Amino acid sequence: MKINHHFDNLVPNYLFADVARKTNEFAAAHPEKEIIRLGIGDVTLPLAPIVVDAMKKGCEDLKYKETFRGYPEYEGYDFVREAIAGYYKSFGVTVHADEIFVSDGAKSDCGNLPDIFAQDNTVLVTDPVYPVYVDANIMAGRRIIYASSNRDNHFLAMPDESIKADIIYLCSPNNPTGAAYSAKQLKAWVAYALKNNAVILYDAAYEAFIADDSPRSIFAIDGARECAIELCSLSKTAGFTGTRCGYTVIPKELNRDGHSLHALWYRRQATKFNGVSWPVQCAAAAVFSDEGLRQIQANLDYYKQNAAIISAALDELGVYYTGGNNSPYIWLECPGDMGSWQFFDYLLQNAAVVGTPGEGFGKNGKGYFRLTSFGSYEKTTEAIERIKALFI
Ligand code: PLP
Repeated sequence: MKINHHFDNLVPNYLFADVARKTNEFAAAHPEKEIIRLGIGDVTLPLAPIVVDAMKKGCEDLKYKETFRGYPEYEGYDFVREAIAGYYKSFGVTVHADEIFVSDGAKSDCGNLPDIFAQDNTVLVTDPVYPVYVDANIMAGRRIIYASSNRDNHFLAMPDESIKADIIYLCSPNNPTGAAYSAKQLKAWVAYALKNNAVILYDAAYEAFIADDSPRSIFAIDGARECAIELCSLSKTAGFTGTRCGYTVIPKELNRDGHSLHALWYRRQATKFNGVSWPVQCAAAAVFSDEGLRQIQANLDYYKQNAAIISAALDELGVYYTGGNNSPYIWLECPGDMGSWQFFDYLLQNAAVVGTPGEGFGKNGKGYFRLTSFGSYEKTTEAIERIKALFI
């Protein structure tokens, strides 16, 4: 037998392993220093009480014959899909419940959605990029091209009419840059996709952090229903990183090559996925209740406050950055022309603060650095004071 040799084309990424190794070495050499981690990509606040109560009630249901649930529907229970459609309505976007697929998270959907597309499609991603888009398509043997996000376009790559792409991954607000597309910019991407018969896979995992008038959904843009699939996640919105739940929206009118993409994805999920458990779907529905939205907002506000503290310090220091306003991520240009690993070492050695070197997210990450707002308020404030003391 042979293995899938496309795996040979994956570029090893030791970013997080190297960050952990260097941090551990520093901790061993300086046991007296308190290390503050501003590189955390996971949430740290607990689930909202109403969410846990709903999950517990879901577990209780499983205890009795009358309320027991077995295999869920592949696409999620109706009441959850209705709740998600209601959430979209709350920010003025119409999405029908029967266009929504509840899943175990956006990472799986990002990686699995290309199953419905041919192998010889060209995939366009922006650079820097959330690595899943790249690796999942390398595993499938697809050609990948990069649209450059850089300081000139404020890390919001725009379409190039001279390039032909079939599958386009966009992430807004972006991981790692925190930058969010405006409606005008998304209109340009939708126009490009329609003209090229391409499909946009729009990752809205951080939409709940949007604070200005940037669209919360690609479906706020005219024409997007004919060219886009949207993926979203409860991980950062409601702290479900360990609980696992997300959703994907495929409009019924989205067709390619004479086929409904909704029907193809249903077939794919029915074959390879057996749904999300009853207690987790109960918890997910609770997120979108009025009280649930109020409770998760308190956590989002906490992270946003941390992001504002980091951004304010960078403003004061005159450091160029993107993100922070619509996102838990702050993407900064390393001061003094330092490379991203050089800056990582400098911050660790001199301030005992850990962040993430930008080059782990692509070529354009060289010389950039990602900080996140998922830590505690106290630690974030302390880390920022230490950083300021280094540069003022
Ligand atoms: N999409 C982006 C852009 C992310 O940053 C992440 C998580 O970090 C995910 C998707 C994964 O989401 P989930 O936890 O729902 O799999």
